[in-house]
Amino acid sequence: MLAEIKGLNEECGVFAIWGHEKAAEMTYYGLHALQHRGQEGAGIVTTDGDKMHVHRGVGLINDVFSEDEFDRLTGHAAVGHVRYATQGGGGFENVQPLVFRSQTKSMALAHNGNLVNAHALKNQLEAQGSILQTTSDTEVIAHLIKRSGNVSMEDAITSALSMIKGAYAFSILTEDQLFIGLDPRGLRPLSIGRLGDAYVVASETCAFDLIGATYEREVRPGELIVIDKDGFRTKQFTSPLKRTLCSMEYVYFSRPDSDLDGLNVHASRKTMGKQLAKEEPVEADVVTGVPDSSISAAIGFSEATGIPYELGLIKNRYVGRTFIQPSQELREQGVKMKLSAVRGIVDGKRVVMVDDSIVRGTTSKRIVRLLKEAGATEVHVRIASPPIQNPCYYGIDTSTKGELIAGNYSIEEMREIIGADSLGFLTTKGLEDSIVKDAESVEHGVCQACFTGNYPTEIYPDTEIPAYKE
Ligand code: SF4
Repeated sequence: MLAEIKGLNEECGVFAIWGHEKAAEMTYYGLHALQHRGQEGAGIVTTDGDKMHVHRGVGLINDVFSEDEFDRLTGHAAVGHVRYATQGGGGFENVQPLVFRSQTKSMALAHNGNLVNAHALKNQLEAQGSILQTTSDTEVIAHLIKRSGNVSMEDAITSALSMIKGAYAFSILTEDQLFIGLDPRGLRPLSIGRLGDAYVVASETCAFDLIGATYEREVRPGELIVIDKDGFRTKQFTSPLKRTLCSMEYVYFSRPDSDLDGLNVHASRKTMGKQLAKEEPVEADVVTGVPDSSISAAIGFSEATGIPYELGLIKNRYVGRTFIQPSQELREQGVKMKLSAVRGIVDGKRVVMVDDSIVRGTTSKRIVRLLKEAGATEVHVRIASPPIQNPCYYGIDTSTKGELIAGNYSIEEMREIIGADSLGFLTTKGLEDSIVKDAESVEHGVCQACFTGNYPTEIYPDTEIPAYKE
């Protein structure tokens, strides 16, 4: 599905590299591969061992960086970030990596996720005299590190990690060290690779492929990695808890060419589509997927049922770049500008429309209408994930419960609202079976809280939902 019309958005992408003479350039390319995780801002910070160099800006990577910046971004190590504007707002001050300078040591933080106790920590920090300049959780982490009183950066970070709760995958760069960490449940994805002698870290493995790096392993839940002139060290800052990697990464966010916890995303989506076909079979003439993220599941559905897969919906790729703004009448058609139904494929046919998820239902309703206007005699909507009934507190903008169609209506009511002839969802068991290698093991497991309401961490009355604020 198309993020910009769906109202379901990832918060951020993180990239880091240590030990490469073109660290800034590699980070720039790595961020390109992660652009789908955030389009509101981007930044790179490098270190030459003595000084840190920063360039950040609002917009897409290509808008933020030009060739000139790379003359300044010197050094053998870098951290980079792409950002989607959620709770913290979309201003320049929130664009990461955030840089904190001091007389002893500077640090640049790039962070993906959401702290569930950020509000309480902000109150505590302000009561102790800290002045917070941004609204992001990243600054809270920085203040906790600075205030810990530890001389060693490693000890200061470990102390800060003992206070924060929620979902976080971060890279912290100082003049002479790189730190990588993942929350105790491993809610957000983070992988380590090698590029020659250099170490690379990225939210998704597609960033490794783009720069020619090889995947080594996942960062483990509760792991803190330190890379410096003495090499690579790792420690657990908490005892291992059952992993609960965000299942929506498989369903929707991650690129199909990425591997998460050792499983390719496209392959997992195909399995979800096959499982969906078993759980919610239907008689029809063609299967079509809503581009881009639902195509893999639609292929799986088609393979399992024998109903031919066809390109019944086409994405209008360059519509966002039009400089003549569409008229009000055209804008109201919303989806039509971004998606087209292919009349030659769907006219006179019973169509299975596979989508990855339903958030508010408005987009599904428009797509069903598009297909019917193009001549489909029946439209059967099949969703390759369970109904999203609860908000996410871990860095994904799923909207509030009041805005979620599945949080307020039964499946039959939803079917009627979106105008489909039938509607079926994948079960939570079907989703887990499609993506978890060994459900019994502590190392593998997924979060399904937005479907089930069973949050894998504490949630506090003042925990903020990272809802889009623009
Ligand atoms: S609540 Fe949903 S979107 Fe949030 S981390 Fe869990 S699975 Fe992912």
